[in-house]
Amino acid sequence: MDTKVITIEALDGAFSPREEQALQSAGAVLRQGGLVAFPTETVYGLGGDALNPASSRKIYAAKGRPSDNPLIVHIARMEDLSPIVKEVTAEARQIAEAFWPGPLTMILPKADKVPYETTGGLETVAVRMPSHPVAQKLILYGGGYVAAPSANLSGRPSPTTAKYVIEDMDGRIDMILDGGEGDIGLESTIADLTVSPPQILRPGYITQDMLTQVLGQVSVDRTILEADSGQAPRAPGMKYRHYAPQGELTIISGPGEQVTAYINTRAAEDRAAGHRVGVIGTDEALAQYRADIVRSLGSRQDEDSIARHLYSILREFDDEKVTRIYSECFEATGLGQAIMNRLLKAAGHKLIVLDGNRKP
Ligand code: AMP
Ligand code: MG
Repeated sequence: MDTKVITIEALDGAFSPREEQALQSAGAVLRQGGLVAFPTETVYGLGGDALNPASSRKIYAAKGRPSDNPLIVHIARMEDLSPIVKEVTAEARQIAEAFWPGPLTMILPKADKVPYETTGGLETVAVRMPSHPVAQKLILYGGGYVAAPSANLSGRPSPTTAKYVIEDMDGRIDMILDGGEGDIGLESTIADLTVSPPQILRPGYITQDMLTQVLGQVSVDRTILEADSGQAPRAPGMKYRHYAPQGELTIISGPGEQVTAYINTRAAEDRAAGHRVGVIGTDEALAQYRADIVRSLGSRQDEDSIARHLYSILREFDDEKVTRIYSECFEATGLGQAIMNRLLKAAGHKLIVLDGNRKP
């Protein structure tokens, strides 16, 4: 299949006539059952018509994703929520008011018109209204309901730029809309509103605190920061390998100086054994690392920057054929909860905790 790549420059929504026309033709591709990758404020999505079972099957095929892993349905207008859910509950209204359009996905019992192909066989549907103007326009031109997982091959880190979408999806889908780099860089927060109190199944930019302020009480699925507990995961996608780079990633936790020293020791050993070693650090410690490739997520003071750069660094290490990766660790509070959730999954939960009182 020939994949068309179209660049959209007007990211503020003031599209040129050429861009407007391109978005219209992208919408037509969706309505005819084709697939279009598009930028959102979180990561790039791989879109198909959410109400067309054949489109959802194509999404699973293009990603190489197991078909019991449900898709998120993207809408662009509040009035489009009620037709696809059993009931727009008071809680749904409250969090939509507070966080839509934006990086929040809510789970509600599904209406009959949502095919099981889209929900991975579940009676519930995940819905999000993205704020990115390109995403919004595409959804409207595409018929109002766009099922879209992240636009990566299953198991790889989610793409934060079109370059990485092309890497994974060229030849597998009809069209890619290139809208530059995403703002947030991590997938949406997923809140399950079918349980009481509502439960966060996947942490994201909208934090537990932010949701609690609106809903009063919100729990967090305990598996999100834990190693495989053997428990049946609440969200089907939670059981699959995710966000993983090709190199073996280990997270090192402890006092700053010990972390740096430990990583340098391990890196030297690995390099002596023929490995190509990458380090994921922060501005504060970056100059001290000795490895083949050293990259900063930004300042420790700037969690937005850390979230935004994580996936692109993992992807860059893949491009550079890095075989061992060491990363600093972060506080799992606020946005850090989402950062550590992705980092732990990418590392297959390999976390080394250094003793604060001992030299490594
Ligand atoms: P992605 O589209 O790659 O960002 O991942 C979508 C994730 O949303 C899935 O892997 C699930 O974990 C979650 N999800 C989507 N729909 C549902 C649902 N109905 N119930 C529970 N989790 C869902
Ligand atoms: Mg994904």
